[in-house]
Amino acid sequence: MQKSVILLTTCLALLGGVSARAATKNPTPANKYRYAAKKASYYNKSTSAYYRSIWTAARKSWNNSKAFKWSTTKNKKSRTFTTSVAKNSGIWTNATGMAYNGMSYDKTGHQTGAAMYLNRTVLKKYKYNKKQRTNVAIHEMGHALGLSHNQSGSISVMNPANRVHPLRNVDIRGAKKVYTTPLSTKKVLASSAKPTLTVDHLKDYSNGIYGVEAIRKDAGTIVEGTITKSVAHHKAPKNYYTTQTLKINEHFKGLSGKSVTFTQGGTTKMAVTDSEVLHQGEEVVVMLAKNAAGNYYVINDGQGMFVDTHTSNGHELFEHVSDHTIYTEDMLH
Ligand SMILES: [Zn+2]
Repeated sequence: MQKSVILLTTCLALLGGVSARAATKNPTPANKYRYAAKKASYYNKSTSAYYRSIWTAARKSWNNSKAFKWSTTKNKKSRTFTTSVAKNSGIWTNATGMAYNGMSYDKTGHQTGAAMYLNRTVLKKYKYNKKQRTNVAIHEMGHALGLSHNQSGSISVMNPANRVHPLRNVDIRGAKKVYTTPLSTKKVLASSAKPTLTVDHLKDYSNGIYGVEAIRKDAGTIVEGTITKSVAHHKAPKNYYTTQTLKINEHFKGLSGKSVTFTQGGTTKMAVTDSEVLHQGEEVVVMLAKNAAGNYYVINDGQGMFVDTHTSNGHELFEHVSDHTIYTEDMLH
């Protein structure tokens, strides 16, 4: 018995090792946005000298790589800007930072504006040191210039919940690839001409079934039910979220009431990367936590949502919103 437990542990360690090595080797993947050339100018909106210097350190790190050149502008109307906020509700709950791609475009479909945010509240609460805050700033600049997340556990500044990794070779190669790969057709550009938020959370659960098991443990509440009401909120600075009311059909963990109200990131007008706004009438399993004010929110947007697709051989099947993997109901509680 003991032997099989050890064997299983070894297998898991090997799997983890393989995925991290693979990610370290392959260039960090691209998102669908890019500037016309490998350079952009931003207005630094941060009023604190401390956060201004963090953005400056992040800029220098990218500039030293020669993959992209960030410069600053004194033009307050610049569509590309860096800033910091202090927020602990709505979309910002447990968010270390955020990138807002596609704020504006030119005629050829190239991005002409992107916003980069750091969340002082979460970075302070979880005691990120200055170097670690700079790593998050480099990460947000990475999204803005056209990079997506690297794999879970990857040694990359674009690790989905990066704290410790500075800019790595895989990220530099990823950025160079963005600016040496010809643009897709105009049709693709036209369909992508919509702003998207990438919200960076304190923790990441993107590692397939291992991620689902981890989020199940962390969630105080797991319920299944039907969405009965969706109310979209558009609040400045960039706090787009939807308040959902769920009529509960099954309780798997936590609260015992007949309904629950929770928030999720994004609205029908503003998408959140790897998530989607739940619609009235949809049957879902949601993994929830409570914020400091006692309000429920879905953990990491798409990573904590599973939409009922159909029934097969008596099993209800749910699609994980963040990566579209299908799970049976019993795998979710
Ligand atoms: Zn990110």
